[in-house]
Amino acid sequence: MYQPPKPRCNNCGNQETVERKRSFLGFGKCVCSICESKFADPLVPLSKGYRIGYWVMAIGLTLAFLPKLPRFIGEVIGSVMYYPSALLTTLIEQWPFLLFITGAVIALRKDAVIRKRIRLEEKANASVQG
Ligand SMILES: [Zn+2]
Repeated sequence: MYQPPKPRCNNCGNQETVERKRSFLGFGKCVCSICESKFADPLVPLSKGYRIGYWVMAIGLTLAFLPKLPRFIGEVIGSVMYYPSALLTTLIEQWPFLLFITGAVIALRKDAVIRKRIRLEEKANASVQG
């Protein structure tokens, strides 16, 4: 499996002092032990558990939200056309769905970008060795 090289600290430029950790949301993060700078790890994807968790969340919530969707769309269109001020209320009523579905989709998208970056690195490494 591909072992990404440690990134350099984006603050002091040291590499040996950078420690890889995992953030609360499951993404890789780096902490520098010298300057305590924290930054996102560009080459560490979600662990399998987190990835599955985000998929379950996105699909589960979407399925749960589907029955409400026609009414929700109707309310959004109605608000936009007749009562723009009611749009906020409509969105606030459904915020748990909207927030968590959007959040899960953003996380999966971010993970896909990281994994694509890793595939490109792997390819580059393989062609250097071969
Ligand atoms: Zn540093």
